[in-house]
Amino acid sequence: MSPAQLAAEIRGHRELLLMSDYDGTLVPLAPRPELALPGEGLLNLLRQLLRRPGLHLAIISGRPVTDLRRLLPVPGLFWAGLHGSQVAGPDGVVVNLIPEPSGDIPWPKIFHLARKTAAGTPGFLVENKGEGVALHYRLAEPAAAAAALRQFRCDLQPFLPCGLELLPGHKILEIRRRGINKGLAVTYFTRLWPQALPLYLGDDRTDEDAFAALPAGGLAVGVGSRFRGRTRYYLDSAAAVNQFLELLIKDDRELTPA
Ligand SMILES: [Mg+2]
Repeated sequence: MSPAQLAAEIRGHRELLLMSDYDGTLVPLAPRPELALPGEGLLNLLRQLLRRPGLHLAIISGRPVTDLRRLLPVPGLFWAGLHGSQVAGPDGVVVNLIPEPSGDIPWPKIFHLARKTAAGTPGFLVENKGEGVALHYRLAEPAAAAAALRQFRCDLQPFLPCGLELLPGHKILEIRRRGINKGLAVTYFTRLWPQALPLYLGDDRTDEDAFAALPAGGLAVGVGSRFRGRTRYYLDSAAAVNQFLELLIKDDRELTPA
């Protein structure tokens, strides 16, 4: 659907809870995570959106909250990092949503195994998230990447009983604590603003947990090829998401009496 069609679906709602993934949804996917930077245009859009009365905005990502805060230094924004393990609001206080303490997962060992895989295969990048590890292989040769990932999965076998979960995404393999997913963050934010119409935008498999956690009436908006023909609400790229956000600002100007 077009950004205008999606904007029309929510027109007239006085209070909106807008939740969005970051990579591949607000900004296009980049070869390396540190290259997926927001342009000044996106930062301006978010600043203007947050001036709209009755609009709450939360970014829900696999990245740590500290990373999201640095990327999107926008007053009034809420963040959820590490797939819903932690949330933070404008006051900067980070709330941990992990149901149990996570001291039993040997993250340094898992990081070491990931580094070993990356060292043996050109084009692999390892992201150490503290409470999680991600292997990025957008720059690796596909057959070599598949072989390295097979070996890595074998190496990880002894650690799976610790409560790990492996999540393949867009040229990324995430290792995270089982039971942690973006749905936790969606539940947290929809309870904060139960009267608002919730809408979630996401482009990857991890966003399906967020879609599933939306309360009745919430809009699950799939972004990009993964969701084409699969979700009722759909935008085809990060550029279309940005156009949709622009329309929300424009709608507000038109609906608000001068
Ligand atoms: Mg994404």
